Amino acid sequence: MTFKELGLSDALLKAVEELGYVTPSPIQEKAIPRVLEGKDVLASAQTGTGKTAGFAMPMIQLLTKEPPRSKRVIRALVLTPTRELAAQVLADIETYSKHIDLRSMVIFGGVKQSSQVNKLRNGIDILVATPGRLMDLQNQGFISLRDVEFLVLDEADRMLDMGFLRDIKKIMGMMPAKRQNLLFSATFSREIRTLANGILTNPVTVEATPENTTAELVDQFIYRCDAKRKTELITKLIWDGNWHQVLVFTRTKHGANRLTEKLNKAKITAAAIHGNKSQNARTKALSEFKDKKVSVLVATDIAARGLDIPLLPYVINFELPNVPEDYVHRIGRTGRAGASGQAISLVSADEEEYVRGIEKVLGMRLEGTVIEGFEPTKGPVEGGKKREQGRGGNNNRGGGGQNRNSGNRNGGGGNSRNFRRKPNNNSGGGSSD
Ligand code: AMP
Repeated sequence: MTFKELGLSDALLKAVEELGYVTPSPIQEKAIPRVLEGKDVLASAQTGTGKTAGFAMPMIQLLTKEPPRSKRVIRALVLTPTRELAAQVLADIETYSKHIDLRSMVIFGGVKQSSQVNKLRNGIDILVATPGRLMDLQNQGFISLRDVEFLVLDEADRMLDMGFLRDIKKIMGMMPAKRQNLLFSATFSREIRTLANGILTNPVTVEATPENTTAELVDQFIYRCDAKRKTELITKLIWDGNWHQVLVFTRTKHGANRLTEKLNKAKITAAAIHGNKSQNARTKALSEFKDKKVSVLVATDIAARGLDIPLLPYVINFELPNVPEDYVHRIGRTGRAGASGQAISLVSADEEEYVRGIEKVLGMRLEGTVIEGFEPTKGPVEGGKKREQGRGGNNNRGGGGQNRNSGNRNGGGGNSRNFRRKPNNNSGGGSSD
């Protein structure tokens, strides 16, 4: 299947070509033709599957059916749970529509509203927004959603987790009843189905990956150790492995700050990203990480949601999440867009029940190992076998038969989980050994 066969216009095909996308991802193959037909769509897809293009490309195409109006009005609204995802979605929309006369913008809280208001006054076609700031600006009379023809709820499951249900319902009441609706969600819980029933009309359902499965190219394993020695262990892993581009998850914002401080003290450049940080601090941390000025980004679940960090080689769970689905989201940050990755969890005795919960959701056992010198003093070392950490970060995963060196971000070679992109010399940054 090619992008052309999906029915996309020449202007979009040109943008796709320039991006180096070769084939559509499964979610794009399934969603794009249905959206172009004008159908409401309920899509199961998590970040990393190419879902943004799955809704943005056909949306852009449908909006260009009509010539631009003299005074632009908001004709498409994309709602996202977090600021980072909103910014990322806007960036993608702008890239896909670069040869098309459409104006888009993003609004979210945590920054001054004046520049957003000025831009809104000039008239825009596509608005990407988080619910809070959208409601706020609507209440002040700066936004009208009366002309919205196209609505996307992106990462709807996370919006519900974050308590946005009431806001979403209110926002629905601000739009015309007749419109095309798309709902994207990583998981299909009962709550999501109820929300979908209230918003979508005769939707077609499309799925990119079976619910709650993890990326095939992600190597997942567990290092068991005492809780109080986790900082020491993570420092050793990153130092010995000479790892860069490591995303670390903690359960709390406070924990993220503490770990960041300790890593920096150990001369590992790290930055924290969580909800207590100002928008500017979050944007700065993310861009420094992307620019490789910072090796480690320490994040909480909510802040990390929707982050698009290409070819991220390592995700470390400093603490396991108590919600198993969050584990799936976390490790979805690696092994993306055809690259392989490692997801490592540091597990103390008090987290064993979380391991069971995650294994149940994954439908597989997670391989457990113990690093020499870090043997847990408490609890059973179930299924664990001693493992000496290879020098120079040569992570030889027992039984996996795969040898990955620290600098090699593309251990999977040309293997692709979902789709392929033309080799891009700039994409990985680091050299492969
Ligand atoms: P998403 O799931 O929308 O966050 O997309 C994940 C990443 O995959 C982004 O960096 C996209 O630019 C990239 N991407 C999306 N579609 C394709 C495609 N068909 N081929 C290659 N890369 C893609």
